[in-house]
Amino acid sequence: MAKYRHYEYETELYDLDKIPMEWKFKSGLYALINMSTGQRYIGSSVDVKKRILAHKTYHSKDSLLTRQTKLYTDMRKFKFKAAIIKFTEDYLQAEEAYINKHFKLLYNKRPVNMPPVLTDKYISKFHTKYIKVESGCWETTLVRSGCGYAYLRINSIKYLMHKLSYFIHNGEWPGNLMVRHLCNNKKCCNPDHLELGTPRDNWNDRKQAGLKNIGCRGLTIDVVNEIREKYLTGKYSHITLWQEYKDYVDLSAISAIVSNNSWHDPSYTCPKFKRNGGGKRLSNQSVLEIRKLYAEGWTKSKLSMRFKSDHGSIRDIVNNRSYKKVGVQAKEA
Ligand SMILES: [Zn+2]
Repeated sequence: MAKYRHYEYETELYDLDKIPMEWKFKSGLYALINMSTGQRYIGSSVDVKKRILAHKTYHSKDSLLTRQTKLYTDMRKFKFKAAIIKFTEDYLQAEEAYINKHFKLLYNKRPVNMPPVLTDKYISKFHTKYIKVESGCWETTLVRSGCGYAYLRINSIKYLMHKLSYFIHNGEWPGNLMVRHLCNNKKCCNPDHLELGTPRDNWNDRKQAGLKNIGCRGLTIDVVNEIREKYLTGKYSHITLWQEYKDYVDLSAISAIVSNNSWHDPSYTCPKFKRNGGGKRLSNQSVLEIRKLYAEGWTKSKLSMRFKSDHGSIRDIVNNRSYKKVGVQAKEA
């Protein structure tokens, strides 16, 4: 594994029978080296000596040889030696890259400001992913994301195609800055059409090109107003609105729009609907019946099934925490 390429042995190589006493209770990483093939097995333990001897016992039992253990070793056939491992600077760097890579794979994130490690292979891969069109743009042939930009994978990490182009041709990683399209063509990755800028610059570009107020999926102020109008009628919930405007927004965006947290409009105020204010109102008769049945020995679950109410409401009714007046009226009557 590439992960273990850069290390040194802290100790010399010892035969398994002659492991020094100091290794007892020594914690860290150790290597078992197959002297015939050069294969290494690397493990970690809080008691290196004990662990290495356990390896030896384990492998001396034929019946216990599993597929994996057979893969790297057969203690009787080959001569094994052991050493304790010390990592070098190179190793630590490689390890960091390895962790970063897997972090990205797991969470689909990448540390910000990290330039890709470009090899000739990836550069030639980049050059196969666009075609030059008449306008002078180099239009990408890759599938593009919802926002219209294409990504290229390098070492399984996604990078924006135009950002990569900038990096390849200028040798400078943009980091937090944006790479702007001077040609306003999101497909383009011609380095002559690209320029570094801040998000503000990018916004100004957009304004100048008359593209203002257009979100990722084409949400416009008209659609926002439409959503608000519908919400004001009180007939729509967040979910029903989202089902209608799925193409434009996520559910969270609906919530932000109707509560005026995004696309802020001073003339609009969010209405307060009591959608779940106490839920279904039970009739006085049912309440009395519930109490009566509970006194007769019905369980709360059975009552909640019978009256199609939830367990908590039934509990409150029988403990006289809700519908208090119902009982009083009944007694008065
Ligand atoms: Zn262009």
